[in-house]
Amino acid sequence: MKLTLNLYFWLIQKNNNMNSIAQLLKTQFNINSSQISKLNGYANINYLVIDAQRKYVLKEYPYEPQLVKFIEAENKLLKTLSGQIPGYFQTPVKTKEDTFIVHNKQKGIVYRLLYYIEGGLLADVKHSKTLFESFGAILAKMDKSLQKIYAPAIEARRYEWDILQIDLVKKFFKDIPNPADRKLVEYFYLQYNEVVRPMVPELRQSIIHNDANDNNILVTGDKISGIIDFGDTVYSLLINELAVAITYAVFGKENPLEWAKPIIKGYAEILPPEEKEIDLLYYLIAARLCISLSKSANEKLSKPDDKYITVSETPAWDLLKKWLTINPIKAADEFRKAANLPSIIENKTEEDVKKRWKHLSKAFSLSYPEPIKMEKAAFQYMYDNQGNSFLDTRNNIPHVGHNHPRVVAAGQRKMAQLNTNTRYLYDELTEFSEKLLAKFPKQLNKVFFVNSGSAASDLAIRLALTHTQKPKIAVVEHGYHGNTQVSINISHYKFAGKGGKGIPDNVLVATVPDTYRGKYQNEQTAGKQYAADFIVSAKNDEGSIAAFITEPIVSAAGQVPMPKNYLNEVYRFIRKQGGVCISDEVQTGFGRLGTHFWAYETYGVVPDIVVLGKPIGNGHPMAAVVCTDKIADSFNNGMEFFSSFGGNPVSCAIGMEVLKVIEDEKLMQNALEVGNYMVDGFKNLQKKYKYIGAIRGSGLGLGIDFVKNPESKEHNTELAHKIVNELKINNILIGTDGPFDNVLKIKPPLCFTKENTDELLLAIEKVLKREKETV
Ligand code: PMP
Repeated sequence: MKLTLNLYFWLIQKNNNMNSIAQLLKTQFNINSSQISKLNGYANINYLVIDAQRKYVLKEYPYEPQLVKFIEAENKLLKTLSGQIPGYFQTPVKTKEDTFIVHNKQKGIVYRLLYYIEGGLLADVKHSKTLFESFGAILAKMDKSLQKIYAPAIEARRYEWDILQIDLVKKFFKDIPNPADRKLVEYFYLQYNEVVRPMVPELRQSIIHNDANDNNILVTGDKISGIIDFGDTVYSLLINELAVAITYAVFGKENPLEWAKPIIKGYAEILPPEEKEIDLLYYLIAARLCISLSKSANEKLSKPDDKYITVSETPAWDLLKKWLTINPIKAADEFRKAANLPSIIENKTEEDVKKRWKHLSKAFSLSYPEPIKMEKAAFQYMYDNQGNSFLDTRNNIPHVGHNHPRVVAAGQRKMAQLNTNTRYLYDELTEFSEKLLAKFPKQLNKVFFVNSGSAASDLAIRLALTHTQKPKIAVVEHGYHGNTQVSINISHYKFAGKGGKGIPDNVLVATVPDTYRGKYQNEQTAGKQYAADFIVSAKNDEGSIAAFITEPIVSAAGQVPMPKNYLNEVYRFIRKQGGVCISDEVQTGFGRLGTHFWAYETYGVVPDIVVLGKPIGNGHPMAAVVCTDKIADSFNNGMEFFSSFGGNPVSCAIGMEVLKVIEDEKLMQNALEVGNYMVDGFKNLQKKYKYIGAIRGSGLGLGIDFVKNPESKEHNTELAHKIVNELKINNILIGTDGPFDNVLKIKPPLCFTKENTDELLLAIEKVLKREKETV
């Protein structure tokens, strides 16, 4: 039983008197003890008592009527268990008066005596698979006995350490000080709600020990010799017995699944778990960790200097973080194997692909020659149906991480309350507009909400055309802005690419100002030179250009950043002849670059219109266009602007939560720190391998340009593709970009870590090493 605060103070104040203990043993139990010593107890005081014949443990508690009921129930369990599985459990010792509990009313203390069982602690001995199998077996034997016991005092218990009662500790989540840690607990709580909770009515419930941690398990030789401390006993899901035991048993283990398996095997041979129980174990183990971690966080508030709490929570955090890298399907499958249950993994890729093409156009592309069927995701990890976990280095849509629990909760909450459109008043629209616009300089003070980056680009162009009443649009070579007809017409990447119809009549194309392969390569002067070239090329259209649109880092060009002074010069020209400047921040915005929230800021310019998409809703389909008052006024020409879904309350709630998470988890700073670390790593690789021509970008928006050799700068598309495919085998998702498809695009969720970066660099180096040896 765990320590409550009252109990703690009671313990401190208590003045132990060994003489009175000896007296008690003699008068109540007829024991002439030769030795009495205090044992370390967590919730109560324990004494080791030795007399001429044997050893005992005397347990001392402050009196509480409920506690007495519970101890009586506990004694009932111990008596039954010792009768059915002799030797493994601490049998209660009867008093002279034929009771099992001594109540000293004067002192307000309750005592009981148990026989001592020999053995070292599982915590102190070397672990082996055989030992863990015997651990599983004794747990199962115990549970088989416990299943038959009726103990209303235990059934009535509401206890924070019971996984089934995880809601009782939800109030402590907020006490986890670091939001980036807290999100893990919130994520697994969300999974508990989604996966476990609906199954609860179908699962077996029983009395369980509920605390088979390695300090409560005794070992003699290579066998478990006893289970002690029934203070946490609850009436819960039967499978929670295994969940708790596994949680602590795999602490500090490199491969926790491998160590969980013998416990399950030993258990299953005696008391086979059902498939539906085994399939929840992964989530139940995580839930137990969440309980433990949130309770320690809460305890730390009153005991900030208690090193014991910090020390004991470290392995729990390590395990929870490791748990995230394990595909839950893999865990379930491994646990099933151990329990001799059929596998849940089947590979039907061929059939799935066939089905897809039956209904979908082949214009949709599929990544990888052997496509991946995704099942779940968490932050920077994705899980497929084969049990693989992938590190996601390419998806810039789940900006704050896949399935971020706060974003999910914001959406779920609002969706259950109200989802309507902008023709009504509701607070979310104005609140989100205010929070989003606060991220911009004051002249950018109007926002339109739509549902995709494409719709936003499309609208941005309409705004520019309406405002300027001019016909032409200037775009940058290799740029991409979306899939609507208007967006395609301004996307050189599309209209000049396969299936494109060439440059539309009203479009001018500026050469991509690439300082690596382009005409001008001097970083200091290239910007002005490229701008000057564009201005010359636009001479004939001067006065008729409505807008210039570009991303500050042209993604489809292979993450090519605008060189210094380029945007200032081009913006000045465009504005002078009566046009407006649009920055497409769909890929570069919301802090990805680490130094600034919007990429245009890195160039010291302020656009007239900004296009936002992808990260704004962390995967929820939403986008926005931000512009000046004047542009918004011109657009208000009598034609209503209406988007059925744009700016709905659910989207706005999600958008607000994304902004808050970026701030709370300091994700922009993380992007900078991890991005710099990654750039350093690639620079080291560049020194060792000639294939890395250029490392472009900033923060967690990087492009690695692969070449055959640095002198020719000839694009090395084959190597880039090889890396993509080899990395998939190493469970890392990465993509390529650029006109030659030779640039690795690295745009992970912003919670990406340095450890993730090491893993990525190591996997890339493996391919580079082999390439060096074979070419
Ligand atoms: N602009 C840019 C820069 C993009 O990368 C994209 C999408 N790749 C879009 C616009 C279009 O966004 P969506 O796919 O949400 O329509």
